[in-house]
Amino acid sequence: MLLKYGNHAQRAQHLPGIARGEVRWCQGYSEPNAGSDLANLQLKAERDGDEFVLNGQKIWTSHAHLSDWIYCLARTDPNAPKKQMGISVILADLDTPGITVRRIDLISGYSPFCETFFDNVRVPVANLVGKENEGWTIAKAILGHERSSIGRSIARQPGSAQREVVARARKHLGVVEGAIPDPLLRDEVAALGMREEAFHLTLARIQQGAESGTPGPEGSITKIVGTELKQKRFELGMKVAGVQGLGWEGPGFDDDDLEYTRDWLRSRASTIEGGSSEIQKNIVSKRVLGLPEGGK
Ligand SMILES: Cc1cc2nc3c(=O)[nH]c(=O)nc-3n(C[C@H](O)[C@H](O)[C@H](O)COP(=O)(O)OP(=O)(O)OC[C@H]3O[C@@H](n4cnc5c(N)ncnc54)[C@H](O)[C@@H]3O)c2cc1C
Repeated sequence: MLLKYGNHAQRAQHLPGIARGEVRWCQGYSEPNAGSDLANLQLKAERDGDEFVLNGQKIWTSHAHLSDWIYCLARTDPNAPKKQMGISVILADLDTPGITVRRIDLISGYSPFCETFFDNVRVPVANLVGKENEGWTIAKAILGHERSSIGRSIARQPGSAQREVVARARKHLGVVEGAIPDPLLRDEVAALGMREEAFHLTLARIQQGAESGTPGPEGSITKIVGTELKQKRFELGMKVAGVQGLGWEGPGFDDDDLEYTRDWLRSRASTIEGGSSEIQKNIVSKRVLGLPEGGK
């Protein structure tokens, strides 16, 4: 985002620390009433001289408690004729007075999420990225990167999902060598392998198209298929483990079993984060296939 839309001072200030991994950032997009309908966001940013004054709340801010900076979408013109207008991208140092970060506990036992509150937070106007009120285009471009990178990060090595399930079958079903005896399970494992292979080929094609710049709406395909594959991998991994897959704590389960249960639960979130699968399907329908609203 900074390379494409930031000015020279912003790049000089932020990129070296990002590249060296010294400065952590989180994403301030979602709000209690702005998730899928992101353009409904209400975090207010009012100009006061050389500063913006931010008031409002973000939610599901991953790792905000560990981050140094946040990039936010804020409403700079509440009277804009369309809700996608009047939004700006503003960077804020999380140590700025008035920012409060509160953690949210999840079913998996991890707590990577936060609510982030802004109470009269003053940030310099110099922290505005791109033009005031024209942040929606930048917001969408970042989402394109996020969606395709979620898909890519899930892909791992070709064949790895299938190998993982086979390894768990060997461990939990006592299959020492040769094929998994249950033909139905074997079918499912083979189907997973084939979908995985097809996904890798599609991914390679999309990546070639995106090498020149920002990923297009095709990134939504990567996200849908990649996250569904991930969930299928964990479902099969759980299936072969049977009761052993349900361990939460205690001596009856080894570390690998316990971690797998938590990762399986975490995988439920993958089809939601970065925009839910339903929203990705709407994007594919409109912007990749060119279908009119409603898909007719
Ligand atoms: C693991 C994880 C990490 C996240 N990290 C961040 C982060 O760092 N920063 C951040 O800003 N946000 C983050 N989010 C929030 C995420 O972007 C939102 O959860 C997501 O966009 C969905 O919004 P919502 O939760 O408000 O659900 P809602 O928008 O309320 O959706 C509820 C359900 O309705 C469906 N739905 C809604 N609208 C439509 C429609 N038009 N057509 C069809 N179906 C529809 C959705 O698909 C979903 O199933 C994260 C979420 C998760 C799960």
